[in-house]
Amino acid sequence: MPKRALVCGAGGFIGSHLVKRLKRDGAWVRGVDIKRPEFSETAADEFLLLDLREEANCRAAAAGSPGGPFDEVYQLAADMGGMGFIHAAECEIMRNSALINIHMTHAAAEAGVGRYFFSSSACVYRDMRADEPELSEAEAYPALPDNEYGWEKLYAERMAMAYGRRTGMAVRIARFQNTYGPEGTWRGGREKAPAALSRKIAEVEDGGTVEIWGDGSAMRAYTYIDDLLEGIIMLMASGLEDGVNIGRREYVSVTELVRTIADIAGKKVNIRSIEGPVGVKARNFRADRIESIGWRSRFSLRDGLSRTYPWVKAQVEAHRT
Ligand code: NAD
Repeated sequence: MPKRALVCGAGGFIGSHLVKRLKRDGAWVRGVDIKRPEFSETAADEFLLLDLREEANCRAAAAGSPGGPFDEVYQLAADMGGMGFIHAAECEIMRNSALINIHMTHAAAEAGVGRYFFSSSACVYRDMRADEPELSEAEAYPALPDNEYGWEKLYAERMAMAYGRRTGMAVRIARFQNTYGPEGTWRGGREKAPAALSRKIAEVEDGGTVEIWGDGSAMRAYTYIDDLLEGIIMLMASGLEDGVNIGRREYVSVTELVRTIADIAGKKVNIRSIEGPVGVKARNFRADRIESIGWRSRFSLRDGLSRTYPWVKAQVEAHRT
């Protein structure tokens, strides 16, 4: 019998890629989301359109796979976006994502699911200086996330762990660093920095000007989607409990990110700083725990952007009026 997996958030960026990966690995996959994937057809064996804020829908999603309870549930559904969205929609994030996690964790445990994966975030950590040593997972406490999205993630982590302790469901929690790649949101207000800047650079003429939020000095690390997927699969199969960081340790400023994309695009661009939600000054975290089970990032920022920029550029050209 193939492994049976449920992917919640299968219409989204990471979820739709994860479904493809699980199918390639031979699993039977049910995808669930409030919307279908935007950029390519789902690879799932079955795709249910459900609003997971509703308890009954979480029960329907978690129940009734052919051959009994799901071996694995991957919970990636969230009301989600880049820094602009995170700051503008804090009530929606606190309400919608908490409802999804409250009901989905309970429904999975109730259905007798074997292993439960929760996608948490580097946003659970406090703000930090760029020159501080990387934070370990344990340093998420005492907690001081910079935004409500991070607080909701911490709550959902704790709830999943509580259900694990009560029911014996194996719970695996990854804290993702900023992740990017083809088929990620690239416009509309929810896009994250690598996609937003790729779009701006694709739109601007050689020698033109690109606007960025803040002075460009905020430091970030970016993880290419294939690296993240490898980490998710390895973590799920491992014995690692509690939150586990997954992310490439290549730290760059926003200005360097712009320069790298412009270089890949073969354009010279000027940068103009404007007011906007910048978020934390830096977010550097250790990857020792995920590396202890053999995970290594294989895609440098340049490698990943070289695969992502052409995709965003093609979207820009296809949508030019
Ligand atoms: P995404 O927005 O592309 O995917 C999230 C999916 O959840 C979307 O398809 C959305 O439709 C779905 N969803 C939202 N509300 C729903 C509802 N009520 N019912 C059913 N489905 C609903 O985001 P992503 O980048 O693929 O992120 C996946 C997960 O990883 C999220 O939990 C996110 O918080 C986490 N994460 C992502 C990043 C990143 O850089 N992309 C970083 C840290 C954590």
